[in-house]
Amino acid sequence: LDPEEFRKNGHMVIDFLADYYQSIQNFPVRSQVKPGFLLETLPDSFPLHPEPLETIMNDVQTDIIPGITHWQSPNFFAYFASSGSTASFLGEMLTNGFNVVGFNWESSPAATELEMVVMEWLLKLLQLPPCFSFANGGGGVLHGTTCEAFICTMHAAREKILDQIGRQNASKLVVYCSDQTHFSFQKSAKILGINPNNIREVPTSKSSNFQLLPQSLEDMIKEDIEAGFVPMYLCATVGTTSTTTVDPLGPLCEVANAYNMWVHVDAAYAGSACICPEFRHFLNGVEGASSFSFNAHKWLLTNLACCCLWVKDRLALTSSLSTNSVLLRNKATESGEVVDYKDWQITLSRRFQSLKLWMVLRTHGATGLREMIRKHVKLAKEFQRLVAMDARFEILVPRYFSVVCFRVSPSVINDDEGDANEFNKKLLQSVNATGRVYMTQTIVGGIFVIRFAVGATLTEEKHVLKAWKLVCDHATSMLCKLN
Ligand code: PLP
Repeated sequence: LDPEEFRKNGHMVIDFLADYYQSIQNFPVRSQVKPGFLLETLPDSFPLHPEPLETIMNDVQTDIIPGITHWQSPNFFAYFASSGSTASFLGEMLTNGFNVVGFNWESSPAATELEMVVMEWLLKLLQLPPCFSFANGGGGVLHGTTCEAFICTMHAAREKILDQIGRQNASKLVVYCSDQTHFSFQKSAKILGINPNNIREVPTSKSSNFQLLPQSLEDMIKEDIEAGFVPMYLCATVGTTSTTTVDPLGPLCEVANAYNMWVHVDAAYAGSACICPEFRHFLNGVEGASSFSFNAHKWLLTNLACCCLWVKDRLALTSSLSTNSVLLRNKATESGEVVDYKDWQITLSRRFQSLKLWMVLRTHGATGLREMIRKHVKLAKEFQRLVAMDARFEILVPRYFSVVCFRVSPSVINDDEGDANEFNKKLLQSVNATGRVYMTQTIVGGIFVIRFAVGATLTEEKHVLKAWKLVCDHATSMLCKLN
């Protein structure tokens, strides 16, 4: 690595990205390319000789960018946003620049200790109970994704329970979630070898806003115990993916704890909102859980990927995941005074992830981050107000945070739910095909719903108003054709 070449080329890429952000609104938000577009464009084989960066960047512009869906566009209202920021980007640059592999304390003490500091800062910012702090036998760690947090905590839970009931009973273990829990939960359970027939999805309903109800959970647990199964793990969600509903943590933990289960609270999206005092009550009861995670890359101005996980009993996690190779033996580990994060995650190697979060927390401070959350919630409220004012539309579930779930009402089509689903699906396709905005759908209780999810860092009121006008114009023209 030649420092002068690094400086020159680094500036070129920064300039390229600054120009990209300046013109991001000119690109279709959702990429409009057809499958195979890049496979057909790029050469079949690798270059034999070195190529200058200018040539490569030209190809990024002409070949790569058309195939990008612009998640950072202010007109991105799909899925949950992946909010980025300059602070986080610069933190990522430092991470890449240092390029250390901090699997244990000795391999880069700052990587471990900064992560510990940042996780304790976040614990305080979220007002998580002290039982999740390093000071009390718990602790926090950065994973890439929630799926990894599920896998590691479920693994810890399984080892803990098998120590009690014997390994020969592994096939009796049952895990619980609701029919609204993110599908990465099922994936994690499968990866861990939980029998797919032992993954219980507690049904939810519109009448209770798709919440996981403690009574339904307890009924299922009792049935399982009677049938000889062993309840092991429950996932409760704060901010479900479809509708952002919030499961009642306190009562759910009470049920699960009575059966000696591990409870994980997944707040992938909505966890960030809980840094605001007015949303913190959604975490009430989290003290009864065994672990808690949220994705800072969803709504805390942190570039992908960054899942923050805390556990109450760090020994349960580390004893289930630790390895003790002679290659890594060192004095610090043997002293027992340090954290070796390799024992808190799936992989051995790990990035110096905490730098970007540290940069975000310091650059924006609690006040700046709360301001960003409140702005997005305000914009979602504004969209909700516009939908509510138009009698052709309806809002399907209450808005908790920054997502509005809406549709054209069946009453303006022909009162047929099936036709309404088809109509709304076409409406969404038609709006997205313009490339001017991007929204996605969900299906809850058999109803096709358009999700309007605010969360992109650059989104302002004018983008929300423009998106609503687009939806209205397309609905009007489609309804005219119907009549
Ligand atoms: N949990 C919830 C509530 C989510 O909304 C998502 C993704 O949107 C996930 C988990 C999965 O997160 P990851 O992609 O980090 O595994």
